[in-house]
Amino acid sequence: MELEPIIGLEIHLQLKTKSKMFCSCDNSGENKSPNTTVCPICLGHPGTLPVPNAAAIEIGVKAALSLNFNINLNSKFDRKNYFYPDLPKGYQISQYDEPLASNGYLEIETSAGLKKIDLERLHLEEDTAKLIHQNKKSLIDFNRAGIPLLEIVTTPSIKTPEEARIFLQELRLIMRYIGASDADMEKGHLRCDANISLRPKGDNNLYSKTEIKNLNSFRSVEKALKYEIKRQSELWHNGQPVSVTNTRGWDELRGETIAQREKEAENDYRYFPEPDIHFLRLTQEQVDMWREELPELPAARRRRWQSSYDLKPADARLLTEDKQLGDYTERVIIELAGELDGSVGATAKLAVNWIVNKLTEVLADKKISLNELPFGVSDFVQFLLMVARRQVNSTNAQVLLRKMVESGQPPFEIIKNEDLSQLENSFNVEDEVGKVINLHLTQAEELRRGKTVLIKYFVGLVMKNTKGKINPVLIEEEIKKQAGIS
Ligand SMILES: [Zn+2]
Repeated sequence: MELEPIIGLEIHLQLKTKSKMFCSCDNSGENKSPNTTVCPICLGHPGTLPVPNAAAIEIGVKAALSLNFNINLNSKFDRKNYFYPDLPKGYQISQYDEPLASNGYLEIETSAGLKKIDLERLHLEEDTAKLIHQNKKSLIDFNRAGIPLLEIVTTPSIKTPEEARIFLQELRLIMRYIGASDADMEKGHLRCDANISLRPKGDNNLYSKTEIKNLNSFRSVEKALKYEIKRQSELWHNGQPVSVTNTRGWDELRGETIAQREKEAENDYRYFPEPDIHFLRLTQEQVDMWREELPELPAARRRRWQSSYDLKPADARLLTEDKQLGDYTERVIIELAGELDGSVGATAKLAVNWIVNKLTEVLADKKISLNELPFGVSDFVQFLLMVARRQVNSTNAQVLLRKMVESGQPPFEIIKNEDLSQLENSFNVEDEVGKVINLHLTQAEELRRGKTVLIKYFVGLVMKNTKGKINPVLIEEEIKKQAGIS
């Protein structure tokens, strides 16, 4: 019997607003002392009145639009009643039968091609407090209580663990692009429960599903689903498929899911309309205006860069993973294309190679971010022009770029002072070091055995041969590399 997995995801996303969902408390409590960003409203004191956060509603609608949802101009808030220490009111304000948005989709690129994941609903709600269990005690931090949350529910249209992971990664990227959330799974900004059941291929019934909780990374989502497919397949093949809806927790260390309490049925929550909040009414003009304000989304950017700049799919993907890096690269390409003859494709390739392979490496070395670069886009473009016009060879260009990052000086200033130009000769550090090593095999062997004073001897030889045109630091590095010492 061939079985197919049916997977659905339920995602909670903390929104990056200034204040909480129904009160004016600061929404940056995760970095503050516990129980300091609280007020009577988010602590659930009797007699307080919640007021919906307009910014959270705007972000919610923008998130829904970027996921191709239909926006429901009329929606409402409801109370979801249950008792738990993280919920001081005894109910959570959520949206039940009239959510903010319904019927969306997201197209993802999988190893098997493009795949459309259908989305059922998106709604706004408030986060609960955070429980911290330590030394056999449980502590509560109410800073998290009342943070705006977006809940996104997919249809069971996901067929593989890989699709689930890629969907979540693309969702995170979109939410970062539109500034809705930092969507960091490790920090709990993005939380995901996965539902999975199996059925015989060709069978259109849906069988009892298992909900997996405690998934703290994209990798654990994929691993937990793979584990469940294996576990449930064995049950099917033993003639005892999962017969009741049940909840399991993912144990990252053991690499397996473990049975948890039975899930409450929906009617246990006794949902009813929140009497303290007015119906949520939006106008089409408002929604259209927010749609206009959306930035170009990652998938559209990838497609445009592949067609306009002839970028390889892998490069286009890499550069869209980080919006800031992508924005920077595009500014460089546009400015460089204005200065250089030749195809836009070749110009883009030059810029992308240097940004992706070298600039990011120097930034990582120096532990600085792109917006901390001490020089502007035009200086970087001047640098690329020098490379394109062969005013500096590739080895010296790497030294030059490093010096630009260190000093913030424009490239021509550094060239003038350091003589990194190659107007007469061009030398390749690898070849030059190889040459002297081959001519002095005895000394090279002694160096290999640990006589490191010989490094200076070899550096001197290379400097002499190349009339000092190669940076001695690079020569030394290359000698150590070729001699196999570090
Ligand atoms: Zn509050």
